[in-house]
Amino acid sequence: MFESIFKRGTTTQEETRNQWIKCPKCTSLMYYKEVEAQQNVCPKCNHHFRISAKKRIESLIDEGSFVEYDMTLAPVDPLKFSDKKSYKKRLEEAKAKTGKTSSVMSGSCTIGGEAVEIVVFDFSFMGGSLGSVEGEKIVRSITRAIKKECGFVIVSASGGARMQESTYSLLQMSKTSAALNRLHQKGLPFISILTDPTMGGVSASFAMLGDIIMAEPGALIGFAGQRVIKQTVGVDLPEGFQRSEFLLEHGLIDMIVNREDMHQTLADLFKLFKKEKKSMATTETNETNTLEEKTEEERAFEMGEFELVPEEKL
Ligand SMILES: [Zn+2]
Repeated sequence: MFESIFKRGTTTQEETRNQWIKCPKCTSLMYYKEVEAQQNVCPKCNHHFRISAKKRIESLIDEGSFVEYDMTLAPVDPLKFSDKKSYKKRLEEAKAKTGKTSSVMSGSCTIGGEAVEIVVFDFSFMGGSLGSVEGEKIVRSITRAIKKECGFVIVSASGGARMQESTYSLLQMSKTSAALNRLHQKGLPFISILTDPTMGGVSASFAMLGDIIMAEPGALIGFAGQRVIKQTVGVDLPEGFQRSEFLLEHGLIDMIVNREDMHQTLADLFKLFKKEKKSMATTETNETNTLEEKTEEERAFEMGEFELVPEEKL
């Protein structure tokens, strides 16, 4: 049901091959390299095109500081699910298209010199959907942030829960939220960045739990699609409903940041958090470390939620 909405802002392979790209917002025809040089933002109207997780990471972190984790985690098909195609087949196609086994990339990096754990969604892998592997990668990143006592960032670009995994997928909403609560109890910052689109189970869990929630201009953010809401409530929805600007105006997010300013904004915020934590630490008594040594890996493996693929097969 999100298909028509999600077509907006995508760059087709043909357009890339032809080296020309048409802005879906202002309809200007531009040289692709020119747009790419400006971090895939339209120079004429500031439309933010969707970008891959790899490009996103490059634009956000200190150059060369990214170390990727958990690339070998791969989804299984516990329900033997099939709709028009089998889930297995969909996964194979997504892997062939993107060279990845999940819709997120996760790892360690620095931003403005501060250590940060980061998770970035890639919409091109099954609509950035949240499955068992994605949930597990997020929880592992949070666990690393707690161990390293550093900040945590998630950049969302997702249609929501991966329905082919049914309850396994929905469970990831509570699993990631619980892990974020552990991070919060340690006084460590979580910054959630919402990009086009952030919908469904992702917006209904971790994406909206940031200590600071920022969004890119014009991003579609919501739970159900506009058409479904309109049918349910039976009234016309306001102009710009479910866009970043509307959400900022109504207090659901904290700030809208242009892609080119995102790195510096994050760097400034993490510096501020560090200062704050230092001043708090001087007044606090020594707390015992309550972090559980055991991660959730063992439990998740027991439940058969995912498997590990040898790296050479990736
Ligand atoms: Zn434009």
